[in-house]
Amino acid sequence: YQGLAGRSTNEVLQLYAAHGQQMKFQRSSVVTQLHGAIKKRLKQDLKSLHSFALELSKDFQRQSKTCLYQVLAAVQGIQLQNEAMKMFQIKAFDLEQSLQEVTERYEKEKQKRKALHNSLIELRGNIRVHCRIRPLLPFDDAAGHSQDRQRSFSEKVAYAADDETILVKCSRPGHASVNKTFQFERVYNDLESQDAVFADVAPLLTSLLDGYNVCIMAYGQTGSGKTYTMLGPQLEGNLAFAIEEESELGIIPRATQEVFRLISEKPPGSYWVEVSVVEVYNNEIFDLLAKDSCGKVFGVKRDVVTTREGKSDVPSLTHETVENASEFLHLVNKGLQLRVTHPTLVHAHSSRSHLVVTLTITTVVFGDNFGMLWEDEQTSQRLNKEASFTFPQKMRDNKSTSSSRASSPVQLEATEKMKQVKTRLQLVDLAGSECVGMSGVTGAALRETSFINRSLSALADVLGAIAEQRAHVPYRNSKLTHLLQDSVGGDAKLLVMLCISPGQKYLTESMQSLGFGTRARQVQRGQVKKKNFSVPSKGK
Ligand code: ADP
Ligand code: MG
Repeated sequence: YQGLAGRSTNEVLQLYAAHGQQMKFQRSSVVTQLHGAIKKRLKQDLKSLHSFALELSKDFQRQSKTCLYQVLAAVQGIQLQNEAMKMFQIKAFDLEQSLQEVTERYEKEKQKRKALHNSLIELRGNIRVHCRIRPLLPFDDAAGHSQDRQRSFSEKVAYAADDETILVKCSRPGHASVNKTFQFERVYNDLESQDAVFADVAPLLTSLLDGYNVCIMAYGQTGSGKTYTMLGPQLEGNLAFAIEEESELGIIPRATQEVFRLISEKPPGSYWVEVSVVEVYNNEIFDLLAKDSCGKVFGVKRDVVTTREGKSDVPSLTHETVENASEFLHLVNKGLQLRVTHPTLVHAHSSRSHLVVTLTITTVVFGDNFGMLWEDEQTSQRLNKEASFTFPQKMRDNKSTSSSRASSPVQLEATEKMKQVKTRLQLVDLAGSECVGMSGVTGAALRETSFINRSLSALADVLGAIAEQRAHVPYRNSKLTHLLQDSVGGDAKLLVMLCISPGQKYLTESMQSLGFGTRARQVQRGQVKKKNFSVPSKGK
């Protein structure tokens, strides 16, 4: 048994070992199988991964290729742009250079323009006469006359033959027939607009900014269109004029607009404009812009004097600074409400006074830069002599109107080196030049008329004296001529706008006005030989 047991044990041990081995073998075959499967799977995965990677890299290559193309194209574009930029820079430089050349040439041309403009104005004569015939109007029909008489009265006798000639043609039974022509620098027919009239006035304003005094006056009998020509149509029942009617505006508002336009082309701050509005009534000067302490406007009597420099001046006259044309218009309109008028038989709103609107243009220049504003030597020298070193009123007392220009100490110090030159634009709506007999006035109105006639005679005398180049020009014979002294005569430019009513009723008055204009016109040509340059019929 022991032996048996021993063998059995051995057998068991062998069996056990065999079993162990078999187990081992069995296990390793599963592993191998698994291994094989895994390996197979792995191989497959690897393969697909490989093909994926291959695809990916191919895709990447493709994309990077297109990107590269794009980058290349962009670089090329930039290069092209750079070249274009360079071209532009060169062009800009060229343009800059030519601009500089043009600017220089323009400056030279500007100087020439000024000299030429002045020669032109001087060639035309420092005194020129334009003549405007107004249309026939409803009030030209004389009331209270028979149909026949009425028709002949309102018949037209004055025509513009061409734009330099006026023809007066009239034959009345019992009167010598009239058939006469008059020549002027310009004749406006009854259809010509305010625009057309101003177009010929505008060049004078260039002279104003070039440093010459300018005067524009309307002469003619009451109702002949002086106020219409100078201001524009008047508002119903009001002495003011209609500012809103742009196309109907007369010379005064248009000239102001033009002055401000011309100033806007100059260096800013170098010019400013002051306005005064006066009326000469019965040889007295009334300040229409004067204010009392409450700021209410009323006409204050002023006097005109001659300064030490021989210039005319109205002490304590109100000068209002204006910044633009509309400010000016409102101011003038306010002043106009005060105009003394007296209805005569001729026209319900006949004005019996001379209206003088003055624009004083002050040019400020620093001592050394004087030539800058007047490039042409002559004007520069002429004005340099006249320039005063005093402060403009506005800078001395800063109390009046709108903007204050020199309030700070720095500014005041700066102004000490300043020179100021004043040029004047005087715009005059003269009182009616008709004869007393015509208007049928007596008493106070007769007195008015005789003052008007005397002042208009004085004006004619002044023009006569200038024509004959007399040493003494009798400016001081009337307040009107004294007031206008600086803008009539010398190198000042005067434009007389003769206003003519075309109706036969006004024949005598029209002939008188045309006579005045003709003699005034000869002033520039030095042709006046006759001593009797007196004008209006001094009452019948
Ligand atoms: P004056 O000032 O010479 O007395 P006005 O200017 O008051 O004359 O003119 C008299 C009238 O004639 C006014 O009603 C005015 O509107 C009109 N008038 C004058 N001139 C013209 C014109 N060219 N066209 C149209 N109406 C005019
Ligand atoms: Mg008038």
